[in-house]
Amino acid sequence: MIIVSICHSEIDFYGWFVKIKALKILLEMEKDIMSKKYVYFFGGGQSEGSASLKNLLGGKGANLADMAELGLPVPPGFTVTTEACSEYCTLGKESLFDLIKPEIDDALAKLEETTNKTFGKGPKPLLVSVRSGAAVSMPGMMDTVLNLGLNDETVEAMIALTNNERFVMDSYRRFIQMFGNVVMGMEHHDFETQLDKVKSATGKVLDTDLDVDDLKEVIKLYKAVVKEVSGEDFPTDPMEQLWRGMAAVFGSWNNPRAIKYRQLNDIRSLWGTAVNVQTMVFGNSGDNSATGVAFTRDPSTGANEYFYGEYLINAQGEDVVAGIRTPQQITKAGSRAWATSQSVSEDVRGSEYPSLEEAMPVVFAELDAIRDKLEKHYKDMQDIEFTIEDGTLYMLQTRNGKRTAQAAVKIAYDLKTEGLISEKEAVLRVEPKQLDQLLHPVFVKESEVEAKTLTVGLPASPGAATGQVVFSADAAEAAKAEGRSVILCRVETSPEDIGGMDACCGILTARGGMTSHAAVVARGMGKCCVSGAGDISVDYEAGQFIVGDSVVKDGEWLSLNGSTGAVYLGKVDTVDPALDGAFGSIMELADKYRKIGVRTNADSPKDAEVAVKFGAEGIGLCRTEHMFFEGDRITSVRKLILVAEEVKELRKQMLYAEGKEKAALEAKVAIPLSQYNEALAELLPLQREDFTGIFKALGGLPCTVRLLDPPLHEFLPHEVKGQEDMAKDMGLTLAKVRHLVDSLHEFNPMLGHRGCRLGITYPEVTQMQVRAIVEAAASVEGSKPEIMVPLVGNVKELKSQKEIIVATIKEVEAETGKKIDVKIGTMIEVPRAAITADEIAEEAEFFSFGTNDLTQMGCGFSRDDAGKFLGDYVEKGIYEYDPFAVLDQSGIGKLVKYAVDAGRKTRPNIKLGICGEHGGDPASVEFCCNIGLDYVSCSPYRVPIARLAAAHAAIKAEK
Ligand code: ADP
Ligand code: MG
Ligand code: MG
Repeated sequence: MIIVSICHSEIDFYGWFVKIKALKILLEMEKDIMSKKYVYFFGGGQSEGSASLKNLLGGKGANLADMAELGLPVPPGFTVTTEACSEYCTLGKESLFDLIKPEIDDALAKLEETTNKTFGKGPKPLLVSVRSGAAVSMPGMMDTVLNLGLNDETVEAMIALTNNERFVMDSYRRFIQMFGNVVMGMEHHDFETQLDKVKSATGKVLDTDLDVDDLKEVIKLYKAVVKEVSGEDFPTDPMEQLWRGMAAVFGSWNNPRAIKYRQLNDIRSLWGTAVNVQTMVFGNSGDNSATGVAFTRDPSTGANEYFYGEYLINAQGEDVVAGIRTPQQITKAGSRAWATSQSVSEDVRGSEYPSLEEAMPVVFAELDAIRDKLEKHYKDMQDIEFTIEDGTLYMLQTRNGKRTAQAAVKIAYDLKTEGLISEKEAVLRVEPKQLDQLLHPVFVKESEVEAKTLTVGLPASPGAATGQVVFSADAAEAAKAEGRSVILCRVETSPEDIGGMDACCGILTARGGMTSHAAVVARGMGKCCVSGAGDISVDYEAGQFIVGDSVVKDGEWLSLNGSTGAVYLGKVDTVDPALDGAFGSIMELADKYRKIGVRTNADSPKDAEVAVKFGAEGIGLCRTEHMFFEGDRITSVRKLILVAEEVKELRKQMLYAEGKEKAALEAKVAIPLSQYNEALAELLPLQREDFTGIFKALGGLPCTVRLLDPPLHEFLPHEVKGQEDMAKDMGLTLAKVRHLVDSLHEFNPMLGHRGCRLGITYPEVTQMQVRAIVEAAASVEGSKPEIMVPLVGNVKELKSQKEIIVATIKEVEAETGKKIDVKIGTMIEVPRAAITADEIAEEAEFFSFGTNDLTQMGCGFSRDDAGKFLGDYVEKGIYEYDPFAVLDQSGIGKLVKYAVDAGRKTRPNIKLGICGEHGGDPASVEFCCNIGLDYVSCSPYRVPIARLAAAHAAIKAEK
């Protein structure tokens, strides 16, 4: 409770006024808390809560209330709200319990009345489960405690009531184990060892083999080990058990596992977890009882053929997922498919592993009807948990089932076709980020069948990968730089390996499960990963791994199937994913509703082709420098650089020289100038060819080409070996090459001689590039080139470059006799450009926001160095996300918005786009949509993601 104390020593009027006001506020707060409802009852065909109260009741609680209201067989119970959890965290346990005790007492009394049982007493003891459940499903929080309310006294009553001593003892030992583990902090193995003792003493294998006497012995040992490890007797008072159980759930909200999970999954602004206290039903009361889990559709493919699920006879709670016995299938069809995959004969299947459909046909029919009802009600695929007690079916949970990207797309499409959801809802059902999984190559079936399987690990992250194996992150990065595709093989990965994980095409680890570092990171990257391939032993020293009798050495070809976990020796052919069917239809719908265009960043005809196939409506950023590295062009580029400085210097001197001096300088510049022009002349046809290819691939879609951007020294070799090669290639001394490299060295190249600054110093480079672009456009019918000047901060920079561009276009037009429509615009990536966008728009027909540089310069974070501390920044909440990955909307976003408005004011029809990495990030796409950009541009594989994200943004904006 809030305690108000007022100090009486001051008696001045104003002081009193303030204090009375403060007192009033505190009393209001207290009244607020007092009037809050913390406990919601459900069961007996009605509920105080409903699905709409998900934030307050948690997902589990809200849906239990909902199912009870729908008239489904839900064991009655009550939900203590997430607000109570938040109060628990701020006020503390005692205060919260004082606050909610009256409501808990009422709810318990109502539960006793509804069930006609008594909590903590015979003749019909009420037993309950205590279950956690936040608004978002969250592994890492507290486990469920079942059978709470049992003690030596109620056990006797239960035996008298059920006449089934074995079942009661089984429930009791489960309770001690779960309560001890979850509430009293005992370890699992504390109990496992005791259980194993009894099993080995009696020669029994399965839990179900244990008889009454065995179980009594287990219980005795359990109680003793509790006393020994925790120092206290196992609590016998059911009320104490209940309060402690609830406290453990609330307390688990802030345990490190749960906090970490919320961080990793970006789960924010939740109040806490709810606690569900629910009447027990018993799947372990004999062979007419069972427990199970099921999906209303196939969660991996989305298929709606049969009811996907598993159950176990005479079992309780999580036995099905715990893997202590082989679970059986729900449907006969599913059971047969299972038997085939496990090479179990039909006879054995029928007698030992019958489906629920065969074993309990009546219950099955009821469950199947509920499946239908739930899907119609929630209009989505459900993941359900049920228990059968002595032939009676009970529903214990339902929620929207987790699914793969493939299933998400198929289910959304099917639900729309079945008329359960609208087109817009279908679009919203698929998470843009999830699509990443679908856009990667898969293995050609025939080729995969023929491949030699080395081993099978865990299918940690879907996709197919073929590459040469390397054993360190550094080696992977080096290989990527050489353009080789590699598979990174590690015992397990750690955060230091991130660079290598990013550079490789697939990841293989010997250790670690589905939630290991490798698995989690790979899934995040949308990269194929097989983890926990325990059969391989990795030897870093020798640069090899051994599996069975095969030794696989560094550099050998390996293939991974991230969807099955298979590891193959050698290359396996891959194909691009099929983008038709349900996927195609969902994408069509996305296009129907999105309002913003989607272009791609592509530098080659091949990338352009892929992107167009993925639905790109043009190129938003074609970088010309990548072309400079290809083949022997780099030699021409270096030839240019070699003389560029000299030409520049001599020209500067000539500006002020006269007469003889001028003539001497002219003579001096002649040779370097001719080499300079020669290099440009060599580059011209090559660049023209590049653009011709790209324009052809685009088939009339627009293409924004950015003029040369990086500083010249990036084209020079920085290692001795490379410098020697260059010297040899060009007939120079090593010293000369070194001198050149040194003379171009910059302390801060990102802010150095790059972007339009190059074009201003070396106008001939701009001329050459523009000529190549325009000549290519003239030769490909329908081309729509847009020439973009990079790194403009001052309108005069753009003006000066534009003069050259316009003049060159005119020249080519005169030469070819063709009128070529070329748009001229600029990147907005220097903060000064954003602030003076009104002036810049006088010259620019379009803006393309280069949010990478804009973030770098706007936040003052070097893109190359910020990695060292940005992680801390995000962890400490200084920046919500890495601003290079997710646009910093409240800072850099404001610059963008300002420039958009200023630009439009000057030139209402100015074309506006974004070409930073952010163009493919769903949250940033939404932002771009909301501030009214015309298009976003992103890498080819992200185009479908951006299309879908744009549709989400448009549909959400309507709401
Ligand atoms: P989780 O959030 O891990 O799924 P649950 O709270 O759903 O945990 O509990 C796990 C399992 O425990 C359920 O699927 C169900 O089989 C069993 N269980 C929970 N409450 C009860 C109950 N009142 N009666 C019988 N079984 C229960
Ligand atoms: Mg559950
Ligand atoms: Mg830039």
